[in-house]
Amino acid sequence: MPITFDHSYARDLPGTYLRVTPDVAPAPRLLVLNQALAADLGIALTEAEATTWFSGAALPPGAEPIAQAYAGHQFGGFSPQLGDGRAHLLGEIVTPSGQRFDLQLKGSGHTPFSRGGDGKAAVAPMLREYLISEAMAALGVPTTRSLAVVATGETVWRETALPGAVLARVAASHIRVGTFQFLAARGDKVRLQALADYTIARHDPDLLGANQRYLAFLDRVIDRQARLIAQWMGLGFIHGVMNTDNMAISGETIDYGPCAFMEGYAPGTVFSSIDHTGRYAYANQPLILGWNLARLAETLVPLIDPDPDRAVDLANDRLQSIAGRYRAEWLAVMRRKLGLLGADAGDAALADDLLAAMQGADWTLTFRRLADPATLRPLFQDFAAMEAWLSRWQARAGEGAPERVAKANPAVIPRNHKVEAALEAATAGDMALFHALLAAVRTPFEEREEFMLPAPTGFGGYVTYCGT
Ligand code: AMP
Ligand code: MG
Repeated sequence: MPITFDHSYARDLPGTYLRVTPDVAPAPRLLVLNQALAADLGIALTEAEATTWFSGAALPPGAEPIAQAYAGHQFGGFSPQLGDGRAHLLGEIVTPSGQRFDLQLKGSGHTPFSRGGDGKAAVAPMLREYLISEAMAALGVPTTRSLAVVATGETVWRETALPGAVLARVAASHIRVGTFQFLAARGDKVRLQALADYTIARHDPDLLGANQRYLAFLDRVIDRQARLIAQWMGLGFIHGVMNTDNMAISGETIDYGPCAFMEGYAPGTVFSSIDHTGRYAYANQPLILGWNLARLAETLVPLIDPDPDRAVDLANDRLQSIAGRYRAEWLAVMRRKLGLLGADAGDAALADDLLAAMQGADWTLTFRRLADPATLRPLFQDFAAMEAWLSRWQARAGEGAPERVAKANPAVIPRNHKVEAALEAATAGDMALFHALLAAVRTPFEEREEFMLPAPTGFGGYVTYCGT
């Protein structure tokens, strides 16, 4: 059945993309297809269509592929031109309920933005994005989604020869902080305003007629991102590469590269092999949130007010509110995780003191086992502080707390050792472990011991890689 595409981004925003054609995979093989997501999008896809359309063998009728331009601060350093170096946006799908989504291929070949890269992706990182993004969706976290992964039959060279793959990704949009930076860096105010108006129409249409709409738009992005990062923190999720080109204006988690879930709680946890300074460590994510949003605010200054001083004052005023707004979102997340009803002045201290008491203990299991505190002790080397905290918590949480805690805290997250085992087998051609893990992370509140336990000792310091 054909997909009906629209191309509003290409139509409205000339100068922000290039027309490109995906490569043709020599021997495509469908590895995984998300029929539930297809149904949500209001499209019907056969396996044969998915294989053909997402491997470049033939484009779905109506697709008009483009590579989007964007800039970005990567680990703090600014690149005025990044862009889709290995991705092709096929077009937009409007669902039966009127929501608009991008359908993009990733790993689908070279573009003018490839900068020395090969435009390709390997099976393991594309399946990894599929798995973790679907886990995040099941956990209720805003995220891009994964529609399919197709193995290309091609060899991709990284440190070794690896099987290649293409991911079909669905996003509310692929507009990033870096998209705004691309036009701002060129001093192209006309196109910048067109981008801002397009983005507002797409993500915050109620602001179209508002006065001070660009400031109001900044506020919306702050709200969405503060809520998103608070959710990440609640789950122990570490994105790993929070560059401004990997921060979506929609408020969705995007670009699953070296991300991973923390096991033993340690604020400085870093998994990415290239994050030498811990810039994107677990506990730094809320600070990077503010840093990245300041970069977005800078691009909006010329639109906010004709008087630059006044514009900067207005933007700064919003930026100064971020820390407090994030903290409020985080506290809301923690109240839910701790099963606290209502709001008590001592709740923030209760949450902070738990963090102090649970250093080193498994993040996911500690919260989950609050439902049955007798099971907590084996998670702790020294239980004294936790025991003292538990009696405070029980006094505050009161009746029904175990049920609320079990509803708020997942039993199953994509544990690093499980993800690695599944991806290793998939690279060798066996998808069974991947499908079993995918099924488990899709129902994260159901207890399944096989997927709940932390990595066995010996799994060691886990390292993830980008540039994948
Ligand atoms: P990422 O770290 O995946 O967010 O990518 C950062 C930038 O590098 C983006 O502009 C990507 O399109 C580009 N890039 C990443 N991997 C490749 C690759 N294999 N070939 C070409 N461009 C790439
Ligand atoms: Mg990226």
